[in-house]
Amino acid sequence: MSAETANPQREIKSVAVLGAGTMGSGIAAACAQADCNVLLLDISNEAADKALERMQSGRAPALDDANKAKLISTGNFDDDLDKIQQYDWVCEAVVEDLETKRNLFKRVEKTRREGTVVSTNTSGIPLRAITQGMPDRLRKDIAVTHFFNPVKVMRLLELVPGEETSQDVTNALAKFCKETLGKGVVHGKDTVNFIGNRIGCFWMLSGLHKAKAALDDGLNVETIDALMSKPVGLPPTGLYGLIDLIGLDVMDLVAKNLDSNLPPNDIGRAYNNLPAPEQEMLNRGQLGRKTGGGFYRVTKLDDGGKLKEVFDLTSQQWRTAHEVTLDDSHLDYRSLIFGEDTHGRFVWDVMGGTLCYAADLVPEISDDIVNIDRAMRWGFNWRQGPFQQLDALNPGAVIEKLTDDGKHIPQMLAVLRDASVDTFYRDDGRQFLGSDGSYHRVPEE
Ligand code: NAD
Repeated sequence: MSAETANPQREIKSVAVLGAGTMGSGIAAACAQADCNVLLLDISNEAADKALERMQSGRAPALDDANKAKLISTGNFDDDLDKIQQYDWVCEAVVEDLETKRNLFKRVEKTRREGTVVSTNTSGIPLRAITQGMPDRLRKDIAVTHFFNPVKVMRLLELVPGEETSQDVTNALAKFCKETLGKGVVHGKDTVNFIGNRIGCFWMLSGLHKAKAALDDGLNVETIDALMSKPVGLPPTGLYGLIDLIGLDVMDLVAKNLDSNLPPNDIGRAYNNLPAPEQEMLNRGQLGRKTGGGFYRVTKLDDGGKLKEVFDLTSQQWRTAHEVTLDDSHLDYRSLIFGEDTHGRFVWDVMGGTLCYAADLVPEISDDIVNIDRAMRWGFNWRQGPFQQLDALNPGAVIEKLTDDGKHIPQMLAVLRDASVDTFYRDDGRQFLGSDGSYHRVPEE
């Protein structure tokens, strides 16, 4: 009997979360909040118990209703792993280290009961590396469930099956994450950084590199952030503000992982390191908010007020940060990106470059444009996904500019041009252009 017939419909009602760090405790809390029984294990009882405490206290507790904490049992991997037999979904969220995850899955495989669904919350390790040489049963029962931080707040869940993952496993995870946890499920492929981080990290790393020309042309850090936010429909943190939140140390690891795993001809390879000024900041520990300052720092003044300063990348000195007021022509995305001034050139370079990058990644990272647009909206809080932005800018005008500049026309823009159509979406967003050049119905969110 095949696994398919052995488990015609898998249903998730209870969850064993392995790893009680930032992500594991967020996932455990989300499941308990949705009234599921949860087992939360870590290397020690103390680590798991502390995580349970944190879920109920602090400034933004992961559990809205502290009473739901009683649905969560805690324990450790050495004494309590056999308890996973009582749970339908085993969700691994331990440190991002291949051997640690593989060793844990070997132990899980000896213990879990037939029919459970298994997942890993890796953000960058290929699933095929985790399952290589593992028993067939695990290879059929496992997928990546890539939650975003904080789990309670971020809507995106990237669901990535391996080559051998059975459809009923993917279906059960999609159903549970969507209907029980209320997540926006996006279907990705087993490629480096999946969808959101593949495009989002390209935007950030290429942004840092391309900002050099704009800084040389007289734009400053605050103006760059003002441009990379409201006018283009991105969150108010902009480019440098977001990297301050993430930390330059994390960005450096992301760049290194991309360097090891991006396909050989990927244009992102040009940006797989930190530019010199940011590398110097990293070397001296000026990482971002976690070290009290990165590109910005806020100091409390004696009179109770606050001083916001910016690290001027050109002079390499801290100075008072200025409020930026953009002209009307810089507030309208279309006028801005097709404008020939310094502001426009920078936005074309970074946003235009990122939209083109996304347009070259179908079907490599996603079968369609809808999953890409949703990943960027739900995981990075972009007001519109890349293809929605291209529609707003007029894809024909983008193709014309690329042609005038002698640039390559990315795959999905070429599909649109060859199909002689004007937009990626039509019928009020109810249909999208497929890579086959025809329109298809947009699946329900
Ligand atoms: P974390 O450091 O907060 O927690 C990791 C947990 O792993 C800790 O509780 C730790 O006790 C445990 N651990 C450490 N060494 C171990 C070992 N040898 N064996 C078993 N357990 C061990 O990390 P996190 O941010 O929760 O990340 C967990 C996973 O989620 C990683 O794969 C990470 O890449 C991924 N992820 C993180 C984020 C994020 O923003 N933090 C977002 C998406 C995905």
